[in-house]
Amino acid sequence: MSSKNVTIVGAGPAGLTAAISLVKNGYDVNLFEQNNDVGLRFNGDFQGLENWSDPEDTLDILNRIGIKINFLCNPYSGSDGYFYGPKLQKIQVKTSRPLFYLIERGSNENSLDQGLRKQAEEAGVNILWGQKLDSVDSQTAIVGTGPKAADAIAKGMVFKTSLDNMFIGFINNKIAPKAYAYLLVNNGKATFATCMFEDFKNEKLYYKRALRVLNFVIEIDINEPKEFGGFVNFFNQPKISKDNRILYAGENAGFQDALWGFGIKYAMLSGYLAARSIIANKSYDELCKAYLYPKIQTSLANRWLFAHLYNIGYNLILNKMKSMDDVIPALRKHYNTSVSKKMIHPIAQRWYKTRLIDKQCMHEHCDCVWCRHGKLAHATEENC
Ligand SMILES: Cc1cc2nc3c(=O)[nH]c(=O)nc-3n(C[C@H](O)[C@H](O)[C@H](O)COP(=O)(O)OP(=O)(O)OC[C@H]3O[C@@H](n4cnc5c(N)ncnc54)[C@H](O)[C@@H]3O)c2cc1C
Repeated sequence: MSSKNVTIVGAGPAGLTAAISLVKNGYDVNLFEQNNDVGLRFNGDFQGLENWSDPEDTLDILNRIGIKINFLCNPYSGSDGYFYGPKLQKIQVKTSRPLFYLIERGSNENSLDQGLRKQAEEAGVNILWGQKLDSVDSQTAIVGTGPKAADAIAKGMVFKTSLDNMFIGFINNKIAPKAYAYLLVNNGKATFATCMFEDFKNEKLYYKRALRVLNFVIEIDINEPKEFGGFVNFFNQPKISKDNRILYAGENAGFQDALWGFGIKYAMLSGYLAARSIIANKSYDELCKAYLYPKIQTSLANRWLFAHLYNIGYNLILNKMKSMDDVIPALRKHYNTSVSKKMIHPIAQRWYKTRLIDKQCMHEHCDCVWCRHGKLAHATEENC
């Protein structure tokens, strides 16, 4: 077998970005995907490509790593929406550039997943659909198989509405413990979800409360709702390679924003860096040290801080954000390393070990999002 052959497992943003990079550099890529299409982990829900953690605009970063924007990707600035704090105070923030780019996830035509699939196929990636790989042979491989366990969950719905394009973010422990709830509206379609970093077993209660709050703060018509659930996984210490032969990328390696779960950018960048390490014969670990590790470590420190702020702290933060001329630099500062975050990181690491405590579900005929044997978790009984 030629040394220019690479196996990739998982057609998510990490695996597809790696595959696109490699074929463009003359490699033969076989990409194995367990499902018969991309995006089946998702539900046509809207997500955000965050645009605050780097000085460079996210779209410029994608362009630099060879990804075209052939999917729905709409900019949303501070003036396009609101935040509601625990006291339901309404806050609008100012931003000098889009706060995030709204994208769609799943298998619909305009989703990020389909856009990446198209780019990969046009570039010449050989995608082997419906093939679940549990091990790889001796050649070089990149594994981007997504999350392994639930460290945070989301419960929500996609629906149709007559509302204009907008977003709302809710920070309130009563509806989204240690996390946030969000509404994203684009061209008559909407996603509403509440996320939680703890107390997963009460997901239905939080979801019900979140819906009540949504209906209280805005007049909204909800048509053809379809409920969905999802989970994300981050690691204390990312595990990124085995024998320098298998490189792990994306959420599977632990490249996830531990603060708020904005993992897409990290998934794509780690896929790109895994490909670069093969193309340029450089250490993947060294490449990740420069950009990804500092951000991942800071996000864990931020998670610890956020989890200890409680509603009082969230009120203070939102009020501070309201008075800023531009929240982007402040958010960027928090997403990047500093002496204080380096000091907090070891504390956060020790604390983080308790995050997976809620592993078992005692509900009869369970359909919980978080539960590893729940229908929506796409997991198997043995995992419980
Ligand atoms: C509800 C929800 C909302 C989110 N919102 C945001 C957001 O707003 N912004 C953001 O940045 N991030 C968000 N995220 C996180 C983001 O979606 C993930 O971080 C990102 O998709 C990770 O990409 P990935 O390529 O690592 O994994 P995935 O997207 O999970 O892709 C992994 C792929 O591997 C395949 N696979 C798995 N095992 C095998 C196997 N053994 N063999 C073959 N194929 C396999 C899977 O079928 C899948 O297609 C959200 C997540 C959820 C659940």
